[in-house]
Order: sequence, then C-alpha cells, then structure tokens
Amino acid sequence: MIEILRKHKILFAAAILTSFLLSIVTVGAAFVLQYILDAIVNGDWDLFHRMVWIVPFYIAGLGIVAWLSSLCTKKLIVRCVWDMRRSLYNGVLSRDVESFHGINTADTISALTNDVKTVEETGLVPILMIFQYAFVFVLAAAALIYYSPIIAGVMFVGLVAMYLIPASLGKPISHRQELLSKSFAMFTISLKDQLSGYDVIRSFQLTDRARKDFAGQNDAVAGHKYAVDRLTALSEGLSQVLGGGAQLVVMLVAGYLALNGHMSAGVLLAVLQLSGTFVGPVAVIMQSAPSIMGARSVMERIQAISTEQPSVFQGKEEPVFNDAIRFEDVSFGYKSGPMVLDNLNAMLAKNKKYAIIGGSGSGKTTLVKLLCANYGGYAGSITVDGKELRQLDIDKLLAQISFIHQNVYMFDETIQDNIDLHRQYTEAEWRRALTASGVGRFLGQMEKGLDTAVGENGVNLSGGQRQRVAVARALIQKKPILILDEGTAAVDWQTAWDIETALLEMPGITMVTITHNLTPELLRRYDGILFLENGRILESGDYDSLVKAQGGFADFLARGVLQDSQEKGGDIR
Ligand code: ADP
Repeated sequence: MIEILRKHKILFAAAILTSFLLSIVTVGAAFVLQYILDAIVNGDWDLFHRMVWIVPFYIAGLGIVAWLSSLCTKKLIVRCVWDMRRSLYNGVLSRDVESFHGINTADTISALTNDVKTVEETGLVPILMIFQYAFVFVLAAAALIYYSPIIAGVMFVGLVAMYLIPASLGKPISHRQELLSKSFAMFTISLKDQLSGYDVIRSFQLTDRARKDFAGQNDAVAGHKYAVDRLTALSEGLSQVLGGGAQLVVMLVAGYLALNGHMSAGVLLAVLQLSGTFVGPVAVIMQSAPSIMGARSVMERIQAISTEQPSVFQGKEEPVFNDAIRFEDVSFGYKSGPMVLDNLNAMLAKNKKYAIIGGSGSGKTTLVKLLCANYGGYAGSITVDGKELRQLDIDKLLAQISFIHQNVYMFDETIQDNIDLHRQYTEAEWRRALTASGVGRFLGQMEKGLDTAVGENGVNLSGGQRQRVAVARALIQKKPILILDEGTAAVDWQTAWDIETALLEMPGITMVTITHNLTPELLRRYDGILFLENGRILESGDYDSLVKAQGGFADFLARGVLQDSQEKGGDIR
C-alpha cells in the first residue's frame, strides 16, 4: 500500500508536512492552556493579556493547518484510488483473449468497486492517520517527558498494553477481511448472472429460486462483514478501555504530585491535556494497525488482477498478406480439456471465399479463433505468407481482420456508434456498409434512424437487426479478411441469403464463413469448402467436386437436408 502512496510523491510529501504542522499546533494547545491557567492562578495580568492576543492567532493557525492537512490527505486518497482502478483496468485490458476469459468479469467488477473501497477505507485512510498521529504522539511524548518524566513513564506502560492486546487481533481480522472480499465477489458474480438471465428466470418461473439464491449470497456477505466488524469492535473497545484507563491513572498520579506541591496548576492542566493528546493517537494507531493488516490480503487480490499479463504473441514483424494463410499440422485443446483440433491442415488463398462446414463441436469456431490469435498454445504452425503468427505483430494482423460473431455484442449507445465504433468514415463507406448489411432497410422504419439508441446489449433491436448491425460494423472497416462465425444465423433465410451473396460478391476480400446454411446455390458460390470432422479437415474442394466424391461432406449434406425437411414436416423418401 505504501507503494501506491509513494507513486504520488508530491501529494504524499504535502500530506506528511501538513500533518506534521498540525501535530505541532495540536500539542501546542497544552502550552497555551498552561500559560493561561498559570496567569490566572498567579494573578499575572501581563501574561494573561498576552495570551488574550495569542489565542485568536492560535485558533486561526489551527484551523488553516487542519484544513490544509485534511485537503492534502483527501486529494492523495482520491489519486491513489483513481490509480488503483486504472491499474486494475489496464491489467484486465492487457490480457489476451485466453487469459481474459480466465478471470470472471463479475470478479473484476467486484475488485474495481468493493475491493478498492475496502483498501481505501481500511488501508489507505488508516495509514495516513498513523502518519499524522505518529507525529502528534512523538511531540506529545516529548512534551510529557519535559513536564514530568514520571507521568511519561506511566503513559508508556499503558502504551505497551494498548499495543499488545489489539495487535494480536490483526491476523484474524485479515483472514476475515479476505473471506468478506471473496464472498462479495461471489455475490457480484451471482447477481450479474441472474440479471443477465432475467428473461430465462421469468419465463421458466425461477423467481423463487433466484430470490433464495440472492438471499443466500446476501446473508453470506452480511455474515462475513459482521464477522470482521465484531473483531474490529473488540479491537476498538480494548483500545478505548486501555486508553481511558491510562488517562485516569495519569490523572491520579498528576493529582498526587500537585497535592504534594511538585506540580503547578498550569502544568497539571498541560499534563492532563497532553495525556489526552497522547492517548488519542495511540488508540488510533492501535485500531488502525489490525485494519491495515486486513486490507493487505484484499490489496493482494487487486494486485493479482492489476498485474499486466504479457501475451504469448510477442512478435514484431509486419504482417503481409498477398498469398495465403496456412494451417500446418495444427493441434490444439483448451486448458485441461481434450484435443479439439487434431493435426489440422488447411490453406486459405487471398481473395477467395471459403465455407467451413461440420457438425457441432467439430472445431470450426476454434479454427477461426486460432487465426485471430485468441490462443497461443497450439502445436504446428499457422502462417500468413509464410510467417508464423507468433513472429507477427498481432495488433497489425488483427487490424486486417473483421469478425462477425454469432452472438453480437451491442454497446448501450446508438446504432451509428455501434457501427462506426466512434471512428470516422466517408459517406460512400457508410452507404456501402448499410446497403450490403441490410441495415438501410430497417433504418427507414425508425424515427431517429442511425441515432436510435439500441439499449443494453441491443435490447431495443430484434435479433436479425442486431446481426445486420454487426455485419455493417465489420464491412465499414473495409478490412481484407472477413470472418463470419454463423454471422447470418439470426436472420431469416431471405436476409441471410441477401447478406451472404452481397458479401460473396465483394471483390478484394478473403472471406471465411462458418455456416449451417447448406443451400447448394449458396455453397456453389464459395471458392472452397472445408469440411471438418473431429478437429480435422476431412475433405476440401468446391461444392460440386465434394458432392461428386460422395464422401463425408455428401453424407453430412444428405443428413442435414433430411433433418431440415423433417423439421419442416416434409416427407422424405
Ligand atoms: P464448433 O464451432 O464446430 O461447434 P467449437 O470450436 O466451438 O466447435 O468447439 C469445439 C470443442 O471445444 C467443443 O467440444 C467445445 O465444448 C470446446 N470448447 C469451445 N470453446 C471452449 C472454451 N473456451 N473452453 C473450453 N472448451 C471449449
């Protein structure tokens, strides 16, 4: 935590300096009181008049220094929290797709909100308070020794007790704080899941179960929070008892010294004032220490997400695509899962159009994800004009690829924002994208046209409209490689046909389409079909040659057509 504070050196120094000044002024109160009381007791009008002049300046000084100290401390905390959030976000964004999916998004949200707040309240604020009160403590101790070494000795004995007892609670508080942070993360994960699946919950009448799940998570968070608070309360109570007790003992000892004539009334008042000033900081320091230890475990969680993850793809070479992309003996399996691609070989020539066809789970999506460098742990090689992906500058390669996913993500902005993604395009580029995607056709029915707000994840649009927006988003960028992962599955047959034929006619684009649309007229328009089974390309070639070969593809086609007709209620003989 100290490292975060150190990152903001100037503010940190200002906070420390103003805290130091404030502690001088605070301890100075004892001297002001002593002089006033001594003047009264001794009938010293001269001193009394001087004190009447000094007190307003003292009060003004105290006010200014206290305000400056509070301002610097608050500003420092705001900057530190801002920095923590930024580091967390950068840590998440630095991840490649594989490592990003290794963390739960709700977990990250919980870290960005709850954990950061916990570190602020139970870590940063107490640390700065310790700095501030440590000065007060040292100055008050020095003043006490100056006034009465005996009383200073009594205070130190109380101090040891005040330290030892609450400090022993630091570890258990830390442990409970960690459990609280984890249970809050679980709470956020479950809540996000339920809110995202709201439609399913409603239509399958799962509201009672959802309520029960929520209540369970809510109970867990409240229980863990109370477990932390119980120990914190014990620590605070003990500090109060020991602090208050030490002050009373000091009062008795000082009273005894005054009664014996070893101490003037003014010094007695100063000593009592100082013992209060002395106990306060020690109590704060003792209460803060366990809380800071508790925040450490939460800070470690934040750091784990904030740590930037170097990508497997560290190549720097400029990707050049003039000839072909080749998959050679590529094998790949997801983490701890079975092999999904098994010695796969394929070639995609520039400006040709390919359809990837195969049963569900045969590895089609995985194949295109590897081409987009989502996963680096494959065996074999994937080359672009002979250069392996791991040698290439992946950002530059991705700048040449447009990807249309089956599940389109819509940002909660307008249709225009969702298509241009806040980049500038010419009118001609807009016209081309809107026409080829079919967005132009439904825009006319919308009052605000391109300025229509799509709502959270495009809730205001139909599935087909979302899909068309996704096509327009990919087309407007005019990238040389276009990948559709069942990119027209959500639209009706006619629209799918229109979009796909429009894309197939586009010159200068290498297109790879994962499709379940087995219409011969459409498949004939592709230059090549890659037929996948069990993670291998079983057959490849143009439609007619594959049908003629009467192999796996023809078989698959026959089964697909059969299933299609049965779904439509047809009679196949
Ligand atoms: P297809 O696109 O042909 O339907 P995929 O490439 O999506 O097939 O999936 C191939 C296999 O890989 C499936 O068995 C699937 O369960 C598994 N798989 C896909 N994505 C992941 C993932 N992110 N983590 C683990 N397994 C996955």
